[in-house]
Amino acid sequence: MAVLKILTWGDPLLRKMSRPLEPSELDDAFRAWCKDLVETMYDEEGVGLAAVQVGQPIRVLAVDVQFGESGIQKPVVYVNPVIEPVGALCEDSEGCLSVPGVRGKVRRRESIHISWIDENGGSHRRENITGMEARCLQHEMDHLEGVIFVDRLSPAARSLAEGKLRKLARQGA
Ligand code: ZN
Repeated sequence: MAVLKILTWGDPLLRKMSRPLEPSELDDAFRAWCKDLVETMYDEEGVGLAAVQVGQPIRVLAVDVQFGESGIQKPVVYVNPVIEPVGALCEDSEGCLSVPGVRGKVRRRESIHISWIDENGGSHRRENITGMEARCLQHEMDHLEGVIFVDRLSPAARSLAEGKLRKLARQGA
């Protein structure tokens, strides 16, 4: 297993639309890479990581929102996830491993349904996911469309972050 390099703000790949995977692509090499994706998420103390953040514009997410509290690793790898947002909008603070040092309040749906396949091709669906997990999944799904949480900040919060964003973009260049 290996810890992968995380792309940061200013890298053009983070703005690319990720493509869905074909069933034939779910091979041993892919599953080994998924382990690296998960290991990278834990190494960076993140609760979620999208494949594009480590340079692969494919529709794959790793998520584990409870490890920080429980200390038990229960990662879920979502391949070709589709979410249906439900419930009211609610606002809470977010950060992103690709935008270190920047946090801000983002509006998301308070609950979602999600359908996906796992790294072996098995189909799954969960309904009425709430709380931090719902927020995290919506944040990660945004990455698959090339959207970063900073895009969803209020104009005032965005201008507060502008100095740090410029610095990140310079460091990455
Ligand atoms: Zn992120």
